[in-house]
Amino acid sequence: MAAKRDYYEVLGVSKSATEAELKKAYRKLAIKFHPDKNPDNKEAEEKFKEAAEAYEVLSNADKRARYDRFGHQGVGGAAGGGGGFGGGMSMEDIFSQFGDIFGGGGGSPFESFFGGGRSRTRQAVGSNIRIKLKLTLEEITNGVEKKIKYTKKVVADGLKFDTCGTCRGRGQVTQVTNTFLGQMQSTTTCPTCGGSGKTISNRPAGADHQGLVSKEVTTTLNIPGGVEDGMQLSVNGKGNEIAGGIAGDLIVLVEEKAHEDLKREGNNIIYNLYISFTTAALGGDVEVPTVTGRARIKIEPGTQAGKILRLRNKGVPDLNGYGKGDQLIQINVWTPQRLTNEEKNMLKKLDESDNFQPDPSKSEKGFFDRMREYFR
Ligand SMILES: [Zn+2]
Repeated sequence: MAAKRDYYEVLGVSKSATEAELKKAYRKLAIKFHPDKNPDNKEAEEKFKEAAEAYEVLSNADKRARYDRFGHQGVGGAAGGGGGFGGGMSMEDIFSQFGDIFGGGGGSPFESFFGGGRSRTRQAVGSNIRIKLKLTLEEITNGVEKKIKYTKKVVADGLKFDTCGTCRGRGQVTQVTNTFLGQMQSTTTCPTCGGSGKTISNRPAGADHQGLVSKEVTTTLNIPGGVEDGMQLSVNGKGNEIAGGIAGDLIVLVEEKAHEDLKREGNNIIYNLYISFTTAALGGDVEVPTVTGRARIKIEPGTQAGKILRLRNKGVPDLNGYGKGDQLIQINVWTPQRLTNEEKNMLKKLDESDNFQPDPSKSEKGFFDRMREYFR
């Protein structure tokens, strides 16, 4: 799959574009690449869909904020292998958006401009369900399969339908109005059946007015490694059902549990290691926790406080598959806080040696240079 273009770039607007600017930019593109105007033109269709998707995200304040922060992953665009989470819009989604873009009370006068009259059955879609999912740093790093239980609305057993009398099963009603451009036909979702083309003729006991009952269900989520706190993953069709239509989505909000010892910085993991003053001087082996267990690291003789050691590829994997972060171990030297008289005398003796006088010019790099190097 080709890399996704930046949504702002797709619409040709700046990152600070207002709602009106977005709408204007999208309207222009939608007219230019509309399939009725570009029959059998695959490229135009792709551009049409791309613009619709960009507008769909940027016109929604919540989604736009997530996109600004996390990029395409933040808005369900991290398609593919990962775990069945995918974005993308169908043509039905796009056309149903047009009511807002082109005004005109829900229907789309736009369709009439371009030959209109095509009958698109708009399928009713159930509502989305949102759940929170707490994940440990280990689960986030390694990816995890999570079995979760939640309650959703399902179509009650024994529910029976009649064809909707208002729209005669079409799901849409068409109105013809006279305008300065001549007669214009506008099509809206049927108000009686909500677009499904059916009405309930037999509602089983316990079902609500939509013929739905609540049911506890279990599903397995395959969480890819590299997700982030605040990210939302959507699973198509696992949301609430709707009679005569398709189920909504299950939207999973990721929450990252704080780790006792390790801190995440982007895809790197930071660990603060305390070594003794003598280990710093003499060198030695120490054990550190990692997200996959423990690792032994070597401390060189003469190690300065503030030095950062790197365990390659022991960090969080990139969600889009571009490698892994590292674990960075920042070395702190523990200064003893209580000394016996004997220890004091030994240290006083050592302090007379030239080797114990600070000489920072000898240390390869300063602390800030090292920080800069690792947190570029
Ligand atoms: Zn109807």
